[in-house]
Amino acid sequence: MTRARRPVEAARTAVHAWDAIATCLSGNIALPAWARDYLLGVAREITRLSRDRIPAKGAIDRAVAAAAKLQGGPKFNPFTAGTQDAHETLIAFEVYTRHTANWWNQRKGLGATHDWSTVFRDVAEAHHCDNCGEKQVSQATVKRYWYKHQLEVIPPHLFERAKSHKVDDILR
Ligand SMILES: [Zn+2]
Repeated sequence: MTRARRPVEAARTAVHAWDAIATCLSGNIALPAWARDYLLGVAREITRLSRDRIPAKGAIDRAVAAAAKLQGGPKFNPFTAGTQDAHETLIAFEVYTRHTANWWNQRKGLGATHDWSTVFRDVAEAHHCDNCGEKQVSQATVKRYWYKHQLEVIPPHLFERAKSHKVDDILR
């Protein structure tokens, strides 16, 4: 990972951490180690702001955001980065389920095709969610998300029995 990407990844982790912290504390369950580590890191940084690294007036918001690892940038919003990722993954998952359904239908002679462009078109036409609202995703966008996230949405057991690591072999 390059140096420039690290704060972006840290901000993504921070957003996930707060989600985990809220879930765990409200359910009275133990925090996972990574969320504890994050929280401890933030607590130490915030404490330092009141001791040896007191921020100047006008630099406080920035110092707090940095302490929480939630700093944004001109092209980066940590609070939408996770949502965008989740949305892309959702669409990739729809491709996986559609491909599987079409594959079985084709085997049963029901006429559907599991040809990838048909699958992308079917998903683009069928996809509805709050994030998109009235907008329709394009077939090209569906395809892009699939290639970006396919390894996250294909169930792990399919990898084990596959002849190769090509997606067409895995999904057979
Ligand atoms: Zn959507």
